[in-house]
Amino acid sequence: MADTVNGLLREAAAQADPESRHEAEMLLAHALGKDRAWLFAHANSVPDAHALVRFRQLLAARQGGEPLAYLLGRRGFWTLELEVSPAVLIPRMETELLVELALARVPRDSGMRIADLGTGSGAIALAVASERPLSRVLATDASTAALELARNNALRCGIDNISFAHGHWLQALQGQRFGLIVSNPPYIAEGDAHLEQGDLRFEPVAALASGVDGLDAIREIVEGAPRCLDSGGWLLLEHGYDQASRVRELLAGNGFGEVCSWQDLERRERVSGGRYR
Ligand code: GLN
Repeated sequence: MADTVNGLLREAAAQADPESRHEAEMLLAHALGKDRAWLFAHANSVPDAHALVRFRQLLAARQGGEPLAYLLGRRGFWTLELEVSPAVLIPRMETELLVELALARVPRDSGMRIADLGTGSGAIALAVASERPLSRVLATDASTAALELARNNALRCGIDNISFAHGHWLQALQGQRFGLIVSNPPYIAEGDAHLEQGDLRFEPVAALASGVDGLDAIREIVEGAPRCLDSGGWLLLEHGYDQASRVRELLAGNGFGEVCSWQDLERRERVSGGRYR
């Protein structure tokens, strides 16, 4: 009975990759329109032909390298389940460091105006907005497809202290000022070999790469942010593991104080920021 739920999973997991059983479960549940728990309760049921074709297509795509998050159309981030598509970067767990650092600077008992530049799926903006209901988050992106997806994610998550603006980095803020600006901008150097590896091959290059040293977007944000921050307002940026000292120099050279970098769980400096005086 190879075509029972159990048989299909065993067949899919026969590929040596230890992740493959878990991924096959997610893909089969998705093809069936069920959750993983359903699979365990129905191990001997036989999926209909349509679900079977769909499952085999998903599995083949995954084996061809397509990211699991795009195949499932969703990814968990912070406490939220977000819709994702190839129009946006897949939210990364390491970006939760940026969310934690942002939350540490936003009071719980009063409102702050916060901007998330290049929001993509809305991951950072929605996580912050969900934790600080008295604050208001403006999420921006230069991609209208990304903004539409982020807006849907706000609706799906029932988060309403957020609004959206189309535009390139600080231009989207149209002269408004904020107490905190956060961004996980593209920071990989154009032509870097990482762009040809793993999930990155399938993600929008505009969300990943930025100029010959990877710092074009970060430079533009650091140089423009002072005009969009309240005095004492914070700018926090995610960046590559080897860019922290260059980002700190940019911050210090553009009027920021309390300039600092923070390490992720792997002890790599992945977020830097400063306070505009
Ligand atoms: N802000 C989004 C995220 O962190 C998208 C970032 C990007 O596209 N560079 O997931």
